[in-house]
Amino acid sequence: QITLPEDVNALLQTLNDGGYEAYIVGGCVRDSILGRIPQDWDITTSALPEQTKALFSHTFDTGIQHGTITVVLNKTNYEITTYRIDGDYADGRHPDEVSFTSNLEEDLLRRDFTMNAIAYHPAEGFRDPFGGQEDISRSLIRGVGEPAKRFQEDALRMLRCVRFAAQLGFQVDDATYTALQENAALIEKISVERIHEELDKLWKSPFPEKLSLLLSSGLLPHIDGLLDKRLTALGETLVPQLKAAPVSAPLRWTLVLQSFMEAEAKTFCKKLKFDNATAKQIQTYLRHLSQPIPQTPYEVRKLAGILGMELTENLFILQEILQDKAAVATAREILAKVLADGDCLNLKMLEMDGKALMDAGIPAGKAVGETLGLLLEDVLHEPEHNKREYLLEKALKLQQK
Ligand code: ATP
Ligand code: MG
Repeated sequence: QITLPEDVNALLQTLNDGGYEAYIVGGCVRDSILGRIPQDWDITTSALPEQTKALFSHTFDTGIQHGTITVVLNKTNYEITTYRIDGDYADGRHPDEVSFTSNLEEDLLRRDFTMNAIAYHPAEGFRDPFGGQEDISRSLIRGVGEPAKRFQEDALRMLRCVRFAAQLGFQVDDATYTALQENAALIEKISVERIHEELDKLWKSPFPEKLSLLLSSGLLPHIDGLLDKRLTALGETLVPQLKAAPVSAPLRWTLVLQSFMEAEAKTFCKKLKFDNATAKQIQTYLRHLSQPIPQTPYEVRKLAGILGMELTENLFILQEILQDKAAVATAREILAKVLADGDCLNLKMLEMDGKALMDAGIPAGKAVGETLGLLLEDVLHEPEHNKREYLLEKALKLQQK
């Protein structure tokens, strides 16, 4: 028995009142059975997209060519998809064409795993033609139908399989796993964006030990050769490290890429189409991880001034996991004191600026920036030097040299 949110019940009721079948399906059914909170509630229906649209006042076309309409109810989006049969998959990624059907079981047949191919209606209970509930109770991921054929249709399913194993802590059924191994090379057909998205979910999952499936299945060499080599070399050590880190993409990816040089990580992030901010953060962490942990007030001020508070804290977390807990504890103590004292950390906090220097006679141009840099270095060593009078005098002295 699944308790549906009121709005979901209302959506099903409206479709039923319109004369159509409608069920919740996929991830929300699987997660409800597992006692997990579903991320979203997907509905599958015999109504054609135009018929669904006619029943609701606020809708938009999300993937109407695939039969999906988004209905907005109380500011929440719900995807309602018409029962669908996927045609042939010539490219190993998308069906050449989809056709609609009025038969629920035909729709369930196109779905990837038995646990994702269960439909539920509050009045009817479960529609589960492939034994999904039993597989869930055995913590088993099993392909619907013939797994090799299903992976050949859509190679992304192989990576979804590994990702679900890691999210749910499930085993992969033997025949499904064999098919995965035999078809691993097909992952090359899948776009880097989709691969990135799945790997992201894998690293952030509660059972990262399942990344062993990525290595043992032979998928990884077909995703990235260097990543395969470095992760194979890291072996099991990565697992507790991932578990120790907050669930954050830049932090978890930095751990995954810990044996990459900064430049290698840059190339990798470009290839996998990371957004700029995440790619930059990963590179920053890797650069600082290759340097000693700051152990003096000067080093801590300098680091915090360059990175800002959030990234400094994240770097400390990574250094704790990968390097030296005691040294990080020292750095944290120093940082707390530096912050409490309000020490100057960067040019913004320096009691001197370019305009004041020029007013005092420093010629506009390169000299201004250079002088400010030297003054900041002084103040990073000696915070009590952060006084206008002292800095002005020092600037003029520097100017005479
Ligand atoms: P998540 O918690 O990641 O959202 P989910 O099972 O809801 O998991 P979605 O990608 O949201 O996954 O897809 C919803 C449903 O659509 C799945 O449960 C499955 O039935 C079906 N599905 C999604 N992607 C595929 C695919 N590549 N091949 C076959 N069926 C798929
Ligand atoms: Mg989903």
